[in-house]
Amino acid sequence: MALPVHFYDFWGATLFVLICDSFSLAKTRDKGLCQICSLPVLPKGADNDWDGTIDHIIPVSLDGEHSMANCQLAHRICNSLKNRDGKGYHIDWEEKSRENHYWSIKFARLEKLLGGRLRGAKSSRFFAC
Ligand SMILES: [Zn+2]
Repeated sequence: MALPVHFYDFWGATLFVLICDSFSLAKTRDKGLCQICSLPVLPKGADNDWDGTIDHIIPVSLDGEHSMANCQLAHRICNSLKNRDGKGYHIDWEEKSRENHYWSIKFARLEKLLGGRLRGAKSSRFFAC
């Protein structure tokens, strides 16, 4: 399914509208969960690491198309960590947070931002008690 593109007469507006449309569609379809780590995505602008972006499963640079079939909702941080050809790439943040203090701080920030909502997320295994 090709995504709708809205054309406007002033510079830069076309890209802005395209991104907004695909983001909203992907957020609804993916139920607000990052498709790389399965944790909830924060609203746009809420945090530089944990808010949502559109991830092209097959990167556009590798001839991936900008279609809903090739787009998925992802945290900005997960998208940036994904390998260039990372189809099926997954991050387990509980495991990654044990790698070093840097990732531990990043994950702790998500826990803080989400409050208790992680307990009800797909990732409930993180907090099994
Ligand atoms: Zn993620």
